[in-house]
Amino acid sequence: MNSGKIPCAFLGTCAADFHLLKITDCADRFDLNARRASCMLIGESLLIDCGMHAIDSMRIAKADISKITDIFLTHTHADHFNRENVEKIAENKKFPVRLWCRQDAIIPPIDNVETVNMKEGEYYSVCEGINAMSVYANHDEDSFPQHILFNVNGKKLLYATDGAWLLSRACKHLKNKLIDYYIIDATCGDYVGDYRFAAHNSIPMIRLMLPSLKANGIIGDETKIILTHIAPSLHKPHEQICRVTKADGMTVAYDGMTFEL
Ligand SMILES: [Zn+2]
Ligand SMILES: [Zn+2]
Repeated sequence: MNSGKIPCAFLGTCAADFHLLKITDCADRFDLNARRASCMLIGESLLIDCGMHAIDSMRIAKADISKITDIFLTHTHADHFNRENVEKIAENKKFPVRLWCRQDAIIPPIDNVETVNMKEGEYYSVCEGINAMSVYANHDEDSFPQHILFNVNGKKLLYATDGAWLLSRACKHLKNKLIDYYIIDATCGDYVGDYRFAAHNSIPMIRLMLPSLKANGIIGDETKIILTHIAPSLHKPHEQICRVTKADGMTVAYDGMTFEL
């Protein structure tokens, strides 16, 4: 994987409040306002999170399940980790699928799945041209939350959901990394006072964070800030979120959105 651009795709961008009826109406397509559980594909073989919609989203995106070799788990909440879907991805493979988790995560054994517990702050070679590093995230501790920094052909992508703010230990590991793509938890909309502030971000929280991330060299002027894990019940419709956040230099992810690394 060291030559040419690597395609990346958001297969889901929703928080856990997805609208079942709307999703059923969009059984064979992605819709800006019928988001599925947060999930992302890097290249053809790396999946970030595998919640209840992962297989469905891969079908819609015409992604080939048989090519998935590695699943990175941000944490074990049901919208990010669905055991049956991991089993489906792992079955009939010649080699075990690697399930990359936080260093202390306890995952009951799954057939043909090899769990890799990532030590915080260490780089792991995933495949040619791609490595990954785990940092602890500020989210429900029982779900073993981590953010994952990917280095793909020299480009850095931080997948930072779920989790509010940034823990000081994570800040230490990410300092001066000048991330190219900062994909961030934006569960709550453009208002203040939400009780979830210790587990999820709102748009005003992200606005506050950006200058501090810059002051630490974690992001730079060229960094793309991409909002994901968007709760439809706490946000305006997609086009309106885009309008509001454009002035802040943020991009709002949507199901089916693609870019290259
Ligand atoms: Zn979630
Ligand atoms: Zn969660």
